[in-house]
Amino acid sequence: MKFDSLIIGGGVAGLSCAIRCAEAGLKTAVIAAGQSALHFSSGSIDLLGRLPNGELVTHPFEAFAALEQQQPEHPYCKIGQSNVKTALDWYQAMMAECGVQLTAQDDDTNHLRLTPMGTFRATWLSQQTVHPFPMFEPQQGLTRIALVTLDGFRDFQPELTADNLSKIPQFADVAITTAAVELPDFEIMQRNPCEFRSIDISRVLRDESKLHAFAKSLIQQVGQADLVVLPSVFGNGDGAATIKLLEGLTGFTICELPTMPPSLLGIRLEEAMKSRYKALGGLILAGDEVKRGEFKDGKLARIYTRNHRDMPLVADHFLIATGSFFSHGMQAQRQAVIEPIFNLDLSTIPHRDNWYQHDFFSPQAHPFMKMGVKANASLQPSRQGQAIENLYCAGALLSHYDPVTEGCGSGVAISTGHFVAEQMIAHHTREIENVPEQQERTIA
Ligand SMILES: Cc1cc2nc3c(=O)[nH]c(=O)nc-3n(C[C@H](O)[C@H](O)[C@H](O)COP(=O)(O)OP(=O)(O)OC[C@H]3O[C@@H](n4cnc5c(N)ncnc54)[C@H](O)[C@@H]3O)c2cc1C
Repeated sequence: MKFDSLIIGGGVAGLSCAIRCAEAGLKTAVIAAGQSALHFSSGSIDLLGRLPNGELVTHPFEAFAALEQQQPEHPYCKIGQSNVKTALDWYQAMMAECGVQLTAQDDDTNHLRLTPMGTFRATWLSQQTVHPFPMFEPQQGLTRIALVTLDGFRDFQPELTADNLSKIPQFADVAITTAAVELPDFEIMQRNPCEFRSIDISRVLRDESKLHAFAKSLIQQVGQADLVVLPSVFGNGDGAATIKLLEGLTGFTICELPTMPPSLLGIRLEEAMKSRYKALGGLILAGDEVKRGEFKDGKLARIYTRNHRDMPLVADHFLIATGSFFSHGMQAQRQAVIEPIFNLDLSTIPHRDNWYQHDFFSPQAHPFMKMGVKANASLQPSRQGQAIENLYCAGALLSHYDPVTEGCGSGVAISTGHFVAEQMIAHHTREIENVPEQQERTIA
């Protein structure tokens, strides 16, 4: 099977690249072995929450100069600020077309999203059902917040959230209450705790009569509030519509809170991206896994998957976006760390004793979080020092950044995936027009 672009990995990096390639008319396929990190994420798109030295970032794009000084090898510094901005603008517009409204602040600041721990995390884009607390005055417009769970739901404890939230000085004058909604259906589900997870609850609340009963109980339990915070238990693709309906039924402004996995807010993003990609004619080989590749003349010639052992997949350009340790894009062995498909060169790996900080909560990143594939300015990896002309990397597989401590996970994944797609598109266009690269440069 021959493609223009073949993408290994179906996370936010791989899908961003795939959608952009499919938009440009490239014959594209994605091979996705399993669930991506989106199933565990908040569903908000982090751009840059902290600099590598731990300093809090309020205006992410203004912080790029400091990032360049502190971590010149950071993926953002490789691709440049304007490419990051273009990619995030593209993502926001593309997702809006899929019906997922992602909002940023007008003044180019991060906003804060509430965590189940009652703390705040800085982020750049949040879904319309997630209240964006302003960076400098998070309590703005709020005098009464109700934190509501579902009776017996173990994945969200509103008392814990309330306890910590009330300790934040700006919330000293905000009344914070907690409540639990009861429904007969929940009582039955609670008998088996494995069946009382967000995804199971979402199936119940899809039934409009049950949503009406839920709304009635919510009004009784809450009384009055400026903001009602509920765990994210509403639908996958259609969750935002369900919440709109619930807001109409109750008159409350509702804020969804991502809780323990599976994260419906993250899954909502993935579902929307996959639908968009498929609508553009893209192919996804879901549940298949790339096992190895063959190289010829400094290029990746073909790859082999678990399900297509003897039938190689061939493409002009390849992207590897298999994630970090979490998604098996990187593997730690007793004394070594490897990229398991192609054995790509990694950035310097310290001795095993220094893979992590001994203080788990150290403000400094754990070194293993920054481990990854070494890439050049075009995001091309190498093998034994030799760059591979038609292979690129994107997302969590890349080295020199910590998505969690720096709060930049999805931002890096989207912008590097988009950056790679633009290069693939440019190559493809050149090939169609049959203009040699050297000649094109001379003309330019
Ligand atoms: C628990 C958790 C919570 C997070 N929360 C947030 C958040 O709230 N906001 C935010 O911005 N960022 C968050 N991040 C970071 C962010 O989600 C990740 O950095 C980003 O999603 C990485 O995307 P990716 O596409 O590079 O990799 P992944 O999402 O890890 O996707 C990699 C994909 O490649 C597939 N794969 C692996 N090996 C193969 C193979 N051999 N063949 C085929 N497919 C393969 C995997 O199955 C997976 O589908 C979080 C990360 C984690 C781990």
